[in-house]
Amino acid sequence: MPASQLSRAVGDKLSSSIARTLALTLVSAVSGRPVALGYSVEKPEHARLLLVYPERGVGALCETLAQRVWGKIRLGSPVERLYVEDGRVAGVRVTGLDLAVSAVASTLPVNVLPRLAPGVAALERFRDFRFRPMIFVSLRLVGRGFLPAIINWTPEREFPFFRLVEAPVAAPWLAPEGKTLVMADLGAEVGDAMWNMDDEALGELCVERLAAIVPDARRRYLGCTVTRTPLAYPVFHLGYEEARLALAHSTGVEGLWSTGRNGGFAHILMEDVYWRACAVAAQIARALGGGSAASARRLTAPGEPAPRLRRPGEERQRT
Ligand SMILES: Cc1cc2nc3c(=O)[nH]c(=O)nc-3n(C[C@H](O)[C@H](O)[C@H](O)COP(=O)(O)OP(=O)(O)OC[C@H]3O[C@@H](n4cnc5c(N)ncnc54)[C@H](O)[C@@H]3O)c2cc1C
Repeated sequence: MPASQLSRAVGDKLSSSIARTLALTLVSAVSGRPVALGYSVEKPEHARLLLVYPERGVGALCETLAQRVWGKIRLGSPVERLYVEDGRVAGVRVTGLDLAVSAVASTLPVNVLPRLAPGVAALERFRDFRFRPMIFVSLRLVGRGFLPAIINWTPEREFPFFRLVEAPVAAPWLAPEGKTLVMADLGAEVGDAMWNMDDEALGELCVERLAAIVPDARRRYLGCTVTRTPLAYPVFHLGYEEARLALAHSTGVEGLWSTGRNGGFAHILMEDVYWRACAVAAQIARALGGGSAASARRLTAPGEPAPRLRRPGEERQRT
């Protein structure tokens, strides 16, 4: 897509000045530490803010956060419908059951909301929002630390990947001693030639091109694991710029917050997802604690009986 069709907000990823970005890059190069550049929006970047991966993966963070609310979490429960009454969220349908709610914090891709609440004009404007699909080829290699940096950008056309990340340099527990993982990020569209290429061929392609940076890449190569995701990066297309800017403030439906990476349509990582979730939780608490008629329907507190559930056939007609 030509850059002329994109919002200038794509440049906001580098929130610091160019001088500060260069200074932090220098700190990273000299110290050998993965200073997180362009990865933090809610908190200011600084030399001690590092890009790290927890042992056992990011799931470990979610498990820790969930510990205090186990029992309140329903896994494997797709939300099938969102009910909006008079501009306010009124309920959700989860696995065939209707549930009256006072507030909804949704982390679904924001362009799914119009499908869950058809006919709600405030949400219709998010329908055309697009996400860029991506392929991740995780290359298993012998040795470690042979790339110029932990995060390497490769925008040149000769490379099928636009970024190479060797996380075990920063988090040695991610690979056995003497071995490493290099993640190659490839842009794609669902169904295109790259998307349909089989995993082995993708690994071969990456290793072949990696040789321009690591001449003995083929000798080091042990195999790969491939992940394809249709929802990787939000596309800040100018066609829906007004709606994107509006979403930063509100969904336009009272009591409905759309947050997280795909819900907020923001290129953010776990840290920022966390900080934004805290902010949304505070907003919901304020909205429901205000004592107005609209806030009278409050969230169920621990120990309270669950809200009344209706079977699908019992549902009222809602818009
Ligand atoms: C390509 C890529 C690379 C990334 N790399 C990093 C990284 O290196 N470090 C980092 O910190 N972060 C990274 N992130 C970001 C990280 O994935 C996100 O910050 C984080 O997972 C976002 O959390 P979330 O809660 O907003 O959304 P998600 O984790 O996407 O959670 C949304 C959940 O909603 C569920 N869902 C969807 N539809 C329904 C439905 N109808 N009903 C119920 N549930 C539904 C989905 O199954 C999903 O579990 C990356 C993201 C992407 C896409």
